[in-house]
Amino acid sequence: MSIFLTGDLFFGNRSDVLRATMESRQRLCESLAVQFSALVASDDIETIDLTLQNLVLRDGEISSAALRTEDGKLQAESGNHRERWADVAPGKSTMTHTQVPIFKNNQRWGTVEVRFADAAPVSTVDRYLSPFVMLALYISVAGFFAYAFFMKRTLKHLDPGAVIPDRVKSALDVLTEGVVVVDSKGQIVLANAAFTEKINANSRQLLGKRLAQLGWNLEAEQTVPWELAMQTGESQLDQQMQLKMADGTVLTFQVNSSPVQDEKSKPQGALATFDDVTEIVKKNVQLSDMVGELQQSRDEVNRKNEELKVLAERDSLTGCFNRRAFFERAYAEFSEAERSGSELSVIMMDIDFFKAVNDTYGHGVGDDVIKEVGRILEDGMRGAEVVGRYGGEEFCVLLPATDSAQAARIGERLRHEIQEKVWLCDSRIDQKITSSFGVTSTADSAESADALVDRADQALYESKESGRNRVMVWRRPAEPEAAAS
Ligand code: GH3
Ligand code: MG
Ligand code: MG
Repeated sequence: MSIFLTGDLFFGNRSDVLRATMESRQRLCESLAVQFSALVASDDIETIDLTLQNLVLRDGEISSAALRTEDGKLQAESGNHRERWADVAPGKSTMTHTQVPIFKNNQRWGTVEVRFADAAPVSTVDRYLSPFVMLALYISVAGFFAYAFFMKRTLKHLDPGAVIPDRVKSALDVLTEGVVVVDSKGQIVLANAAFTEKINANSRQLLGKRLAQLGWNLEAEQTVPWELAMQTGESQLDQQMQLKMADGTVLTFQVNSSPVQDEKSKPQGALATFDDVTEIVKKNVQLSDMVGELQQSRDEVNRKNEELKVLAERDSLTGCFNRRAFFERAYAEFSEAERSGSELSVIMMDIDFFKAVNDTYGHGVGDDVIKEVGRILEDGMRGAEVVGRYGGEEFCVLLPATDSAQAARIGERLRHEIQEKVWLCDSRIDQKITSSFGVTSTADSAESADALVDRADQALYESKESGRNRVMVWRRPAEPEAAAS
């Protein structure tokens, strides 16, 4: 209807104008004929001639006019009619050449010929094709294009999947992997059974929908792999994508996409395969959670072990090695000294009159004193030495790669420091606290770590015996002698 109406608007109008012009010209000619018939009856050719002259003068539409008798003679004429009326078939009127018969006594007497001015330049089309033919042609051509457009759209909307042959669909339905084919606009033209089942949709609903708009978890500006495949012309492999389902569950797919191109390598669509890896991803997450937990508990165990080791090795009051741990190290250091031939020294020390400290200031102050002595011993070492709490207020120090003279000097420094500092550790103590030292080394050919420690103890005993607050180096039992006082 639209085509017909627009056609009528273009061509119908034009034919109406032509028809109206034609009719008005005919009417004019007929009225001339009636008038001239009367004048011919009275042989008044002169008036006819005058009328024709006036007609041509006044009516711009008329370029010439004449009165011709049946034998072809011009009885009256105006506007150079002979020239303008050339080659016109007798009795036949056109838009520009009108012939109207004139009768006299009921007999054909002649013809009024009116030559109208040429209308607006007549196009070739107008000349050969009538408005009706034009309208019919217009309707056919416009109708063809409109129908073709309509069919194309309708077919696409009704069944976009029609582009894929049935046998291809059935072949793809056999696959356990989801397969989707999209057209150049990313609209689904095929979704195989595995895919539709996986996402709980039927294939008819999916056809024509944009695959990218099924509910994928996409980042802003992210291009889906099948569209990227079309844009780049290259396959996009192993892309992981998540699809949010209507019930809130999230499926994870491993997606491979390849462009489908025509013979000119122009992308016509894409084929995407969807491998459901939801379970694997879930298991992987669980596994990595478990690994994380294991790691955590392993770290915890290590930390506890470390704590246990400290608890097992360290003395709780001073933080120095306890007697057992000290001896373990003493054995190791003794073996190392034997292996390397280096000298290993041992210092044994004991706080003087400690019982009196306890008695005078109380056990708590006594503890503080032991702690402070331990701290001074630890701080006074360079790194490789091992400080152990040997007994109540007795400490023992291992000094690898140190000879007895060096050890005695170190002992002397420690003795001095203890004497000067320890009594300041608690405000209740009002006198200096001294200590005695015994020193020995492997140079005196001790046969074991125990023997070495024992010799240091003997030297300490000698310190006590000879007046306390001093450092004694072990000598063979006959005569231990003072190193310093
Ligand atoms: P000296 O060594 O000079 O011969 O005299 P001393 O008074 O120090 O004698 P001894 O070594 O026999 O006394 C050690 C005292 O140290 C005995 C004990 O009550 C006390 N003692 C042992 N361990 C601790 C402790 O952990 N804390 C306190 N406060 N006292 C302790
Ligand atoms: Mg003691
Ligand atoms: Mg003592």
